[in-house]
Amino acid sequence: MSYSAMKGNSRLLSEDSADVPIISLLDVTRFEPRKLEKRWLNICDTALGPVNLPIFAYRGRLPGPTVGITGAVHGNEVNCIPVIQQFFARLEQQHDKDQSTSFAGTIIGVPVLNVPGFLDSVRSFDGQDLNRLMPGNPLGTASQQYANRIFQEVVVRMDYLFDLHTASAGRQNSLYVRADMKNPEINRIAGTLGLQIIVHNSSPGGSLRGCAQRKGIKAVTIEIGNPSTFQQDLIERTIDGICSVLTTQLGYPRLQQNDTKQHQAPIICCRSYWIFSQTAGILQVCKRVGDIVGKGEVVAEIHSVFGTLLQSFTGPDNYSTVVVGLESNPVAKLGNRIVHLGVIGNEFLDDAHDGHL
Ligand SMILES: [Zn+2]
Repeated sequence: MSYSAMKGNSRLLSEDSADVPIISLLDVTRFEPRKLEKRWLNICDTALGPVNLPIFAYRGRLPGPTVGITGAVHGNEVNCIPVIQQFFARLEQQHDKDQSTSFAGTIIGVPVLNVPGFLDSVRSFDGQDLNRLMPGNPLGTASQQYANRIFQEVVVRMDYLFDLHTASAGRQNSLYVRADMKNPEINRIAGTLGLQIIVHNSSPGGSLRGCAQRKGIKAVTIEIGNPSTFQQDLIERTIDGICSVLTTQLGYPRLQQNDTKQHQAPIICCRSYWIFSQTAGILQVCKRVGDIVGKGEVVAEIHSVFGTLLQSFTGPDNYSTVVVGLESNPVAKLGNRIVHLGVIGNEFLDDAHDGHL
């Protein structure tokens, strides 16, 4: 028996990836129209061989804008992978069903931007946060060069960008979009996505979204729940949201919507902020992601190991907030992030930061 036969199905899986052509330039005009294309994009080399990004591409019959869906710039944020896989499967299925439909432009999906981080199931690249280093530096450190290659080879080719994330390790996120709501087109895109929460956040330097926006790309960040796991309900809702934007904002034919549940309109936040612990102890968060926090309502408590209340955290006395994200590790250290609160309202300031990028 040959070695490959002994490996059974694993050989089929490796052949699937091995059959995908490797390219060094993401030239969308080379993709065949109306066909789901897959490529490996060579992004850099190591002593043991190339590092390649997986690329999905679907090109319409007519020229038009390029829409990008990117994920896992933080390597452990994997909810983005089925979003991109299932989105392209849905797109292909729809166009197979109805050959008369077409659209202008190209959609590119990159389910994993941070390949080394993804392989190690960690957020960082070489100990650095790639989403603080954009647009990188071609003459800099390994992480700066990698960020630069991603930015110059992938991101600048987009006209629209959905950059997919999740919470960091040990935290939970709602399904929310972070966007510069003062930009009218981005504002419309964020609203059309129809997710749980919208947080206005001006486009910070060093982030993929911020740098993309400075290049004129209409970019939003979508936070899809929790790290290192798949949450199918959030995945479906994210795909449906992106399909809605493509149809209503960019003139694409209507794509199948899988999530038939009725959802409340997104809660709009004019800014957001984190509450940090000022003591160490045992943390109990009293709210779940997506919950409204009434004025002065308790959101979390820290007790001593003997059960004595050490610190209580409340929402603001003069306005309501919503729980955008929270810490899920009950062991609190001094200065830990506890709860991420969105301030409900639509008075968007030019300069709104939340400590995230
Ligand atoms: Zn992230």
